[in-house]
Amino acid sequence: MQKYAFNSIYTHFFTRNCYLCSEISNKSKNYIEMIIEKIQELMGEVTNLQAKTAEEAEALRIKYLSKKGEITALMNDFRNVPAEQKKEVGMKINQLKNMAQEKINALKEAVQTEQTAGSAVDLTRTPYPIPLGTRHPLTIVKNEIIDIFGRLGFTLAEGPEVEDDWHVYSSLNFADDHPARDMQDTFFVESHPDIILRSHTSSVQARVMESTQPPIRVICPGRVYRNEAISARAHCFFHQVEGLYIDKDVSFTDLKQVLLLFAQEMFGPDTKIRLRPSFFPFTEPSAEMDISCNICGGEGCSFCKHTGWVEILGCGMVDPAVLEANGIDSKIYKGYAFGMGIERITNLKYQVKDLRMFSENDVRFLREFEAAN
Ligand SMILES: [Zn+2]
Repeated sequence: MQKYAFNSIYTHFFTRNCYLCSEISNKSKNYIEMIIEKIQELMGEVTNLQAKTAEEAEALRIKYLSKKGEITALMNDFRNVPAEQKKEVGMKINQLKNMAQEKINALKEAVQTEQTAGSAVDLTRTPYPIPLGTRHPLTIVKNEIIDIFGRLGFTLAEGPEVEDDWHVYSSLNFADDHPARDMQDTFFVESHPDIILRSHTSSVQARVMESTQPPIRVICPGRVYRNEAISARAHCFFHQVEGLYIDKDVSFTDLKQVLLLFAQEMFGPDTKIRLRPSFFPFTEPSAEMDISCNICGGEGCSFCKHTGWVEILGCGMVDPAVLEANGIDSKIYKGYAFGMGIERITNLKYQVKDLRMFSENDVRFLREFEAAN
């Protein structure tokens, strides 16, 4: 292709005082024709530009629009165009420049789209690295409890959270007007007062007893509900694990030994336990169990209210009336049961000060337990 080098050769022809030129106006006319011809030629070229790769498109930009490009050269020559034709020529050069810019940009875009569509990269895939979540502290502790009792031969039993009065209260020796029901006030369905959210996982024990003959050895973890105002120390739902063991010749000694082993597995081999008499409608005798405070080692601190002991669970021998209500012969079989709040155990292990944090799902809180997974 012929290259116009207006700046080097032709310019002097059109300088008003060019010593070689006697007929400036005629020379100027030729020059204008030449420059317009050149513009039209370039317009034709630009319209038909093609590029298969980004490099080719960039080469075209350099050829036409860079500092030493052909269109830039035309623009440099523009200052030599006589004033009366500057407007016409200027418009044409601008038109050419805009055409070239648009065309080359369109080529670049097309090449890029084609490359993206044709490449093996799947843009819908999840970006890496995927941030890994952590187990919820309540799940960590629940699994640990299941594991300890699993090693003692207890199997897992689960039941519904939406229950009926029989399985939550009546079959477990709660008389209709017994004040123990008030202590476990829960949520009732107004149109069907018999349908309730279970207030303890003992309902699962009732379901196991009514469908299985001894020996029974189960633990029942799950969520339970109470009609409580939500605060740092109470919530309308929390989690329990209950255990039930029914067989011939089961004694309170067995219960105590199992709970001691559990406490030492959970809180360390130096942990001591103590049992205090208590009352539950479904066990007789009943006890509450304390462990030596694992924060101060029994010396006394603000967590254990300077007693050196912390309550962790309730337990007792299954009341014969409960066995009979669930179809088990109380003259042949005996059993023990225990139940604990998973939040309580988790607090003892990790000292979470506010119960509400367990259900807020704040990832900053959950990440604190990364190492415990
Ligand atoms: Zn303490």
